[in-house]
Amino acid sequence: MRIILMGPPGAGKGTQAKVVAEHFGVPAISTGDIFRFNVSEGTELGVKAKQYMDAGEYVPDEITNLMVRNRIDESDAEPGFLLDGYPRTLSQVEELDGMIKFTGHELDAVVVLTVDSEELVQRLLARAETDGRSDDTEDVIRRRQEVYAEQTEPLIDVYRDRNLLIEVDGMGEVDEVTKRIFDALDDVRES
Ligand code: ADP
Repeated sequence: MRIILMGPPGAGKGTQAKVVAEHFGVPAISTGDIFRFNVSEGTELGVKAKQYMDAGEYVPDEITNLMVRNRIDESDAEPGFLLDGYPRTLSQVEELDGMIKFTGHELDAVVVLTVDSEELVQRLLARAETDGRSDDTEDVIRRRQEVYAEQTEPLIDVYRDRNLLIEVDGMGEVDEVTKRIFDALDDVRES
């Protein structure tokens, strides 16, 4: 399975990505997690990415694309993968198309988690209290929502036009949302 998990910041992508990837026996590839790991290790990539992340902006496409390409090339991603947080721009969509085509496979589904905007802000502010992520301050949260609306929301129409889009209600308990995603993706796998 080759799956993309999309949704605004705070929609619960990271939480769901791990469970869903495990269910399908593929690695969950989270660009946010890879960037944060590099920031914490102080790598060259981390140093470059940090300034953008802390401002709530996207890391430039060239940097992100290369990072994802290298990750997808690893052997554990041969049977498939679940992408969390990529693609986020139209140029990343094109880039990913190229990467998948090169392997001779196709994308199976794009799951979008939908959550009310008020609830999103509440969740991120709650996470700020517990996780202390440097981009979970109120100003940066607002900026991340704007950037999502401007640069990432247009991707929803692209994937809808390709008949790959599955919209899943992301409100409610974590387990309920997981079940909705499983149900939707099991239909895809059987078809
Ligand atoms: P969120 O919880 O806001 O969805 P993530 O943890 O997925 O955020 O990502 C954190 C930050 O990492 C983003 O705000 C952005 O700066 C950077 N980032 C992650 N994925 C991408 C991407 N595909 N393109 C550009 N920047 C990205």
